[in-house]
Amino acid sequence: MARVYNFSAGPSTLPEKVLQTAAAEMMDYHGSGQSVMEMSHRSKWFDDIIKDAEKLMRELYQVPDNYKVLFLQGGASAQFSAIPLNFMNGSGKADYIITGQWAKKAFQEAQKYGDVKAVASSADKTFSYIPKTKAEDFRDDVDYVYICMNNTIYGTVYKELPPVGDKVLIADVSSCALSEPLDISKFGVVYFGAQKNVAPAGLVVAIIREDLLGNARDITPVMMNYKVQADADSLYNTPPCWTIYICKLVLDWIKEEFGSLEAMKAHNEKKAAILYNFLDSSKLFKGTVVPEDRSLMNVPFVTGDEELDAKFVKAATEAGFVNIKGHRTVGGMRASIYNAMPIEGVEKLVEFMKKFEEENA
Ligand SMILES: *Cc1c(COP(=O)(O)O)cnc(C)c1O
Repeated sequence: MARVYNFSAGPSTLPEKVLQTAAAEMMDYHGSGQSVMEMSHRSKWFDDIIKDAEKLMRELYQVPDNYKVLFLQGGASAQFSAIPLNFMNGSGKADYIITGQWAKKAFQEAQKYGDVKAVASSADKTFSYIPKTKAEDFRDDVDYVYICMNNTIYGTVYKELPPVGDKVLIADVSSCALSEPLDISKFGVVYFGAQKNVAPAGLVVAIIREDLLGNARDITPVMMNYKVQADADSLYNTPPCWTIYICKLVLDWIKEEFGSLEAMKAHNEKKAAILYNFLDSSKLFKGTVVPEDRSLMNVPFVTGDEELDAKFVKAATEAGFVNIKGHRTVGGMRASIYNAMPIEGVEKLVEFMKKFEEENA
């Protein structure tokens, strides 16, 4: 069996241990005589799975007791609508920071529902940095401020949160979920689509401060009403059972392999440094993001020559480093090195890049 190193931005590589456990439990999950794909979402087996997933999520993220952890569907993109519908319910105003395509899509969707302002943007330099904001940049009476924490396409991340004071901060953390600790108490809501770092596609996790629930607009589709989902313990309808099960196995893996998100972060820093150090010393390849805002998860880079970029992507694919082509809006390459990418994968990629550099200098 030959497994490739998969640098896809999402859906992305999963821990081999998780895939092996899922395979071993495929025909008969814990004596149930069924696969998790087949069983009732009201069964005791699935009840244990979703409860364990929530418990592990709370433990790893140290989620305060006054927050709900919800397992939802519709992808991160469905939350672009659900967030204004549920939370833009006081002044009807919200401030967004535009750090890339996902933030922009969320902003555009929210505009359907109220007075939405883009308070800062890094569009002027192809989103290669995180724009600085000051407390005065935010309107006093907004219902919330919205950010995209890690910008999957462009490879930037917030190292420090914007100075929103006691305004409600909502963050899309899809592409950095569980990669490092987060002080959940600083947010009203954090949410993440699972297919980047947590599970296969089909699941979104939302962690929501309880006092924000219960004021959704009347027109809110019931499936997007976070209060309805919270009251039903994420079982208002049939949840994505299989994906929640894999999420639980990934959380087990983080806990067993690393113990905490501090340790997960140290591992990710070590791994990312191998690639960034090479990019900083290379004569051929260079990173596209300002050093202070570099993501630990998504690393875009270019040679400066589109033909050479294409040659590299082709050669890398043939050598088993797949899905390394950059997003069409940035060009070049992007290596997504999520939690499940082993250090060895990045070391081998760098070896390959060195060889390519020597041959193409
Ligand atoms: C991938 C991604 C999304 C979109 O996720 P879907 O589940 O496909 O809707 C949104 N935000 C960020 C930061 C992402 O990386």
